[in-house]
Amino acid sequence: MNLVLMGLPGAGKGTQAERIVQKYHIPHISTGDMFRQAIKDETKLGLQAKSFMDKGELVPDEITIGIVRDRLSKDDCSSGFLLDGFPRTVPQAESLEVILSELDKRINYCINIDVDANVLMERLTGRRICKSCGATYHLVFNPPKEENICDKCGGELYQRADDNAETVENRLAVNIKQSQPLLDFYANKGYLKTINGLQDIDKVFADIDELLSKL
Ligand SMILES: [Zn+2]
Repeated sequence: MNLVLMGLPGAGKGTQAERIVQKYHIPHISTGDMFRQAIKDETKLGLQAKSFMDKGELVPDEITIGIVRDRLSKDDCSSGFLLDGFPRTVPQAESLEVILSELDKRINYCINIDVDANVLMERLTGRRICKSCGATYHLVFNPPKEENICDKCGGELYQRADDNAETVENRLAVNIKQSQPLLDFYANKGYLKTINGLQDIDKVFADIDELLSKL
């Protein structure tokens, strides 16, 4: 089974990716891991990618796509893979179609874990961390017994700058803008499967599992 996994930050993509990989024994291929491995192996493309990353520049698509092609050609992808974080754009998705047809493969599903942006705001802005021991809490899902005080050590709780409302709202807006054309692309191909990510984690996986068990 050849899968692309999508979902906005906070939608629970990481958790579901872990479960899919565990149950179906396919490699979880994230862009970051792919780059790190190519750089570590000092492949030609890996070294080219590194030269851009070292300058703080975006790695050009042709290099990224070459790295994806190398990765998907490896033996461990013979019975499938779960792509996470790639493709990010429609041109990348189109290139992926070409790579896969060259490898005599195709995408089975693009699974989108769908959660309303307002719910994601609540999930992402509610996190609080203890200044003393680093324990994490959530105002809604895992609140401390006493407001702003760590249950474990009595330390003061704070909100990371990354988790403040404005930053989170911007991050979500950028992600929505970036992912919508891709979702449309996969919908047009007939690959898109939308999973209700508002359900509890087990039910989300049960829905994904039901899809995958038919492949
Ligand atoms: Zn603490």
